[in-house]
Amino acid sequence: MKVVVIGNGIIGVCTAAWLQRDGHEVIFVDPLPPGEACSFGNAGSLSPSACLPVGMPGMWKKVPGWLRDPLGPLTVRWGYLPKVLPWLLRFLHHSQPAEVRRIATALRGLLEPIFECYEPLLQHANVESLVRRTGCLYVYSGPEAAKQWQWGMDLRRSLGVELRDVGQEELETLEPDLKGRFRFGILAPENGSTLDPSALVKGLHAQCERDGARSVRRRVVAFECNNQSVSGVTLDDGETLECDGVVIAGGAWSAYLTRQLGLRIPLETQRGYHVTVESNNLALKHTVMAVEHNLMVNPMAQGLRLAGSVEFAGLEAPPDYRRADVLLQHGKAMFPHLDTSATTRWMGHRPCLPDSLPVIGRVPKIENAWCAFGHGHVGMCGGASTGREVARLVAGKASEIDLKPFAPERFAG
Ligand SMILES: Cc1cc2nc3c(=O)[nH]c(=O)nc-3n(C[C@H](O)[C@H](O)[C@H](O)COP(=O)(O)OP(=O)(O)OC[C@H]3O[C@@H](n4cnc5c(N)ncnc54)[C@H](O)[C@@H]3O)c2cc1C
Repeated sequence: MKVVVIGNGIIGVCTAAWLQRDGHEVIFVDPLPPGEACSFGNAGSLSPSACLPVGMPGMWKKVPGWLRDPLGPLTVRWGYLPKVLPWLLRFLHHSQPAEVRRIATALRGLLEPIFECYEPLLQHANVESLVRRTGCLYVYSGPEAAKQWQWGMDLRRSLGVELRDVGQEELETLEPDLKGRFRFGILAPENGSTLDPSALVKGLHAQCERDGARSVRRRVVAFECNNQSVSGVTLDDGETLECDGVVIAGGAWSAYLTRQLGLRIPLETQRGYHVTVESNNLALKHTVMAVEHNLMVNPMAQGLRLAGSVEFAGLEAPPDYRRADVLLQHGKAMFPHLDTSATTRWMGHRPCLPDSLPVIGRVPKIENAWCAFGHGHVGMCGGASTGREVARLVAGKASEIDLKPFAPERFAG
């Protein structure tokens, strides 16, 4: 079958790689080179533990703060508030305890097999060295502070995530660079990360091309349909590419595409930022999550990456790099000896649904169009398992995990 994969971020590329394993012919369509949109500058964490949704119980109490502090960890730009308000109300609805348990169970299903699903792709593309499994340390100012997040940690544990409490002395032995700043930690030993998310996407994409995939540097603007079936995609230069099937993996821009196939999806973007400290002089071995600042720290090929922040301002507004500067301030407070003489900043668009779950499944009433987008904060984590599941759907095979929570039609009505 000739399948057009729209989008060559981590999700599109992993999906293409799994489709090729089933013998399908792949055509990538994307105006950008691989791994240059949201998959470029993320924190690169590959965490089977990252199964909690963004919206957690009690979050509604924080809403006034989101509006008051433009540089807080989560903010809504005033001008964007009327547009995003219905989405935020849905988001708060999904932050109730029973919903959070349901969502975490679904996400755990997708994230538990992270490494099992990446492994064959990494090996085949000879990019195994870009991924390491060195564990993640969640760090807190003290055990009292950690209590605030205990409900979520207990939920993770109840879903089989391995987590181990770590006192100050052990924390400082594990990561001497954290000395004196944190008195309590939780180690997730099964977690891993990539040294360079963009290089990982590029490496997998290059292997897809070596295996026969074609890449077309254009934007898809419409679909050609015959009855209930897609027969081709129309590009922004007017050309039509014929195909036997299509996978929509356009990240934060995907809702425009599904709408044309009769499917409305409440896709929003949670814009995130990074600072990469190229002059990094630390010797961190783990990824470190500073929970109180919602800051992920990962020692990467380019330097020490400090990433996080959630900003609701849509797809068009220019970046507000003061938010990246705040991440750097937190980084300096965490590591007073960090050499910050050379840094770069970046903003990316996370594709997000109000229930923090991606959309994985066939477009209703269209027999050969599949959705694979909306992975929010965990697209790197969920890329390979999503690809495996989409390939199984295309082949008409039973899924390996429960896909019902990810159904494209779940927002209808
Ligand atoms: C600051 C930050 C930190 C993060 N940290 C992590 C982390 O540690 N771990 C993790 O798992 N995730 C993390 N994420 C989330 C992760 O980066 C995303 O979930 C993931 O990159 C989404 O991948 P994607 O392939 O869906 O989208 P993208 O990488 O954005 O790719 C989508 C592609 O689709 C193309 N496209 C869109 N519309 C069209 C069209 N009409 N025609 C053709 N092409 C189209 C775009 O050009 C783009 O190249 C982070 C995100 C941010 C912002």
